[in-house]
Amino acid sequence: MNAAPASDGLTDGVLLDEVRAAVASVADPEYPGVSIVDLGLVESVDVIDGAAIVGLIPTFSGCPALDMIAADVRTAVGALSNASACDVHWLPGPVWSAERITANGRNILANDYTVVLRRKDGGLQCPVCGSHGVTRQSLAGPTRCREIAWCSACRNPIEVMR
Ligand SMILES: [Zn+2]
Repeated sequence: MNAAPASDGLTDGVLLDEVRAAVASVADPEYPGVSIVDLGLVESVDVIDGAAIVGLIPTFSGCPALDMIAADVRTAVGALSNASACDVHWLPGPVWSAERITANGRNILANDYTVVLRRKDGGLQCPVCGSHGVTRQSLAGPTRCREIAWCSACRNPIEVMR
């Protein structure tokens, strides 16, 4: 591949790659090992005349982490010397669902945080031992986004992302 001609420095296309990488470096405040890309929060990344425009969708309206995430994206993109500006928007749609979480994100959530996602059929599988004997313990989780379940096989508490 030939590099795009750079008559006036970096093209928007090159900057776009840098902005994408910067956005992918931002982790979720509640799960520091999981990037917001892996969580499926990043809907669009654009560069127009040197300015970055990032469209995010919230995992759950009202999560207190949203302001932190937007600020972290502005900080990460703002650190790029070639980006003249960074606008971060929370988009009204599409609605976030657990299907947006990447396989990598699911693995990290399960292995590092014992967080699992409810399958479409409503079933749950324990991320620690693989048992399907996970029962809901209480409606009240650490945040409104999550609930606590209990694995009857390995007796570990499991967080379930709604
Ligand atoms: Zn288990």
